[in-house]
Amino acid sequence: MSTETNPFQNALKQLRLACDAMGINEDIYTYLSHPTRMVQVAVPVRMDNGHLKVFEGFRVLHNSARGPGKGGIRYAPNVDMDEVKALAMWMTWKCACVGIPYGGAKGGVRVDPRKLSQAELERLTRRFTANIINVIGPETDIPAPDMNTGSREMGWMMDTYSMQKGHVVHGVCTGKPVEIGGSLGRTQATGHGVAFIAHEYAKRHGMKPEESTIVIQGFGNVGQYTALTAKEYGYKVIAVSDISGGYYKPDGLDVDEIFAYISDPAHRTLEGYENAQRITNEELLELECTILAPCALENQITPENAGKLRCKVVVEGANGPTTPEADKILAERGIDVVPDILANAGGVTCSYFEWVQDRMALFWDLDRVNEELDKILLRAFEDVQKLVEERKVTYRMAAYFVAVHRVAKAIEMRGIYP
Ligand code: NAD
Repeated sequence: MSTETNPFQNALKQLRLACDAMGINEDIYTYLSHPTRMVQVAVPVRMDNGHLKVFEGFRVLHNSARGPGKGGIRYAPNVDMDEVKALAMWMTWKCACVGIPYGGAKGGVRVDPRKLSQAELERLTRRFTANIINVIGPETDIPAPDMNTGSREMGWMMDTYSMQKGHVVHGVCTGKPVEIGGSLGRTQATGHGVAFIAHEYAKRHGMKPEESTIVIQGFGNVGQYTALTAKEYGYKVIAVSDISGGYYKPDGLDVDEIFAYISDPAHRTLEGYENAQRITNEELLELECTILAPCALENQITPENAGKLRCKVVVEGANGPTTPEADKILAERGIDVVPDILANAGGVTCSYFEWVQDRMALFWDLDRVNEELDKILLRAFEDVQKLVEERKVTYRMAAYFVAVHRVAKAIEMRGIYP
């Protein structure tokens, strides 16, 4: 992996820029540039054919100055420790940016889940959970879904942890099915948040939904609910994409139809969807539109394509989709980037509500969840917007100012043990 696309190097560069611009003292930078705990485990799995395969698993706690670690688990063929370290650091900033009482963590297993049966995935999830059982828990580090994991995996994880502890521990992870301690609204929360933050940005910049178009890269959990919520606000979604390529309709896709298509268990991707023009993922990113929402994976907007983007604003649904060099190019071109640590924080915020409800054993209705979610996201957007205006900095820099300042303050107030 080149230095340019190494996510941890990029995360460090972003931290460096923020600390320099804020005049944060070097001790704090040094402290924050080192994850607190990095665990790597071997995950042996008996495959359906009787053979044994061993997968690599990772769990990183970046920092817990503001509370227990919080962050998802991803299953992907190229996951490695540097990626997980970067994602864990971004979680620290995200939780601090929206002001929820968590530190940052992340995990992953290096596996292509499409090549495993459901039974193999269950054994993998349970063994991975067992192997990291001493570093996770409702008071220490709380996993959640991420790429290629969802409520099913969180159910297995909660069950495995509970079996080991000898009693039900709902709060060990979030994103669980609602029947076993999950929160209403969690599935939709990240995409809902991306669209909510995009809409707040649009309001501040005089963009009207009915005159604005949205392009969404990635049509998984985040992309789908970004599209559905944006449609509810009145925006026109003109293109979406997934691993099978891009789907473009200049006068607006039928979002409900495309959502129904992907939700059909017979279609695991958008392949075969016919009511749109086929384009490549590269072409999709360069379409003329008002809002571009990359909702797939890291390093999608790079120095190679940043000069060719034709959107007014990038709203980052994925984690780390824009490299620091591309960020600079976009800033010079006057294209704002609303950063991941603000734009996709709806998911972790709703996870926080799930954890709170699990600990109280008292569950909220959907209206309450959405009301509390919008309240927190609006407050976070306003905190960032205020700094953008006062300090004349980019949205990313402003969000880092808010977040790093809160974490640095917590470290300072707690002091360094012993
Ligand atoms: P997902 O697995 O549900 O969906 C990923 C989507 O991206 C799929 O549609 C996949 O086909 C597509 N994709 C993969 N490679 C692609 C490529 N090269 N070009 C175009 N599309 C491609 O994952 P998700 O949960 O939606 O997560 C997506 C991103 O959002 C990740 O960066 C994740 O870390 C971030 N995120 C997720 C959550 C959450 O709650 N799920 C919360 C915050 C951030």
